[in-house]
Amino acid sequence: MKNSFLISFAWLVLFSACGQNTPKQTQAQKQQDLMSCGKPLDNQTNVANMEFSVKKSEEEWKKSLTEEQYRVLRLKGTERSFTGKLYKHKEKGVYTCAACGNELFKSDTKFESGTGWPSYFDVIPKSVVTSTDMSHGMVRTEVMCAKCGGHLGHVFDDGPNPTGMRYCINSVSMDFKKEEGKKTEEDKKKEEK
Ligand code: FE
Repeated sequence: MKNSFLISFAWLVLFSACGQNTPKQTQAQKQQDLMSCGKPLDNQTNVANMEFSVKKSEEEWKKSLTEEQYRVLRLKGTERSFTGKLYKHKEKGVYTCAACGNELFKSDTKFESGTGWPSYFDVIPKSVVTSTDMSHGMVRTEVMCAKCGGHLGHVFDDGPNPTGMRYCINSVSMDFKKEEGKKTEEDKKKEEK
């Protein structure tokens, strides 16, 4: 009984993925945001016939990615909230696509959304493409890497100024490239040992 409750809870957390609202909202705002989260954004790219410059067979992707990276990037999965390596990450640098190295987000556009996934209010120009995603009974705007087509996450129009956008991105879909001369948290931990 306890196990089935835990499994149900885990699925609930998983499928509320990235569609989750930020905290400190009234019930009415939450209702409204749930609806606005469902509104596809304008300027969608038709990715059905799009040719990506980085192309690999599914077997090649399986070899070059970890199992979890493959599940999220190639099979459009979602990592569990509050578990990713980058959602609390605060260093200066650039977030890149874990599959192909494409530069996606600058650290100065990252903000704390309270959703448990890395969130950004802007994207590096032309680094991503978007598409309408109708999966899981929701209508959302999917964000993909413009070079390899890897699934990154979703974008919503309830973000902070100056853009009002919230790019809700899976940690596992990204790597981090620190700004030249800056030490990463891992470097500092190594020095402390
Ligand atoms: Fe990529």
